Amino acid sequence: MPSGLTTVRTVADLRRHLAPRRKAGESIALVPTMGALHAGHLSLVTLAKSKADRVVVSIFVNPIQFGPREDFNTYPRDEAGDIEKLGEAGADLVFVPDTAEMYPGGFSTKVSIGDLTEDLCGANRPNHFDGVATVVTKLLLQCAPDMAIFGEKDYQQLLVIKHLVRDLNIPVEILGGEIVRENDGLALSSRNAYLSPSERETAPLLHQTISEVAASLVRGEGADAACVAGRFKLQAAGFRVDYVAVRDPDTLKPLSGPVKRARVLAAAYLGKTRLIDNVPVLPTSQ
Ligand code: AMP
Repeated sequence: MPSGLTTVRTVADLRRHLAPRRKAGESIALVPTMGALHAGHLSLVTLAKSKADRVVVSIFVNPIQFGPREDFNTYPRDEAGDIEKLGEAGADLVFVPDTAEMYPGGFSTKVSIGDLTEDLCGANRPNHFDGVATVVTKLLLQCAPDMAIFGEKDYQQLLVIKHLVRDLNIPVEILGGEIVRENDGLALSSRNAYLSPSERETAPLLHQTISEVAASLVRGEGADAACVAGRFKLQAAGFRVDYVAVRDPDTLKPLSGPVKRARVLAAAYLGKTRLIDNVPVLPTSQ
């Protein structure tokens, strides 16, 4: 593979470019994305570069992970801008398949995880995680990377992917990248572009609120009361709250009462825009 970024659009070309690299003993990292790339995505590319010899980024707005009333058609797309950013970030290969390449006529297989996908984001987005699991399984089989990098921003998704890789014995290491935020705490997201100026002003309250929930858990307050307080605070600021939850960081099972190691996760709408975020609750040192 020459230095610089190469764009491929078919599975055959992807494999043709990667085979010699693999033969030369080089390690490969895959960073799956839906494009409209921002510094959060690019931090995953940087992490991938620090771990592997070659970095492949996929850009595919996956229709089967969107619900019928969701934003598939309006999801931001900027292939030329994305390719420029990936070149600057030092990615080697960008895989940009179209829908027919990923889901040719007669496609009917679904990867379905079960339990882990049934609540939190899965409760209000039925079929979402099956769509994610199906496309990620395909990408892992198409690229056969040594490792694949996903953001903790989509924390439930990261655990879903770790679970499916374990269940299906896919020989790949799954790594999580830390959430990249704006200076005011708002997690970077392609969907932040939908926010009106006044919604954008309110949006950082999501991170602020779950951070307060995490802090109250560290002080020994109960999880249920902390979540209710968080929900009220968000509602008072104009959010339509989907969930504020305290969960086991490995299984996402609910936790109540005083907790030690946990993850606080939330999803809430500002107008039509659904924002998600999460923070760790770390045990205090005493
Ligand atoms: P998306 O394009 O939204 O599907 O995201 C592609 C990958 O980037 C996923 O693994 C996301 O979790 C990750 N990602 C999105 N936003 C951020 C962020 N603010 N910080 C770190 N990773 C992110």
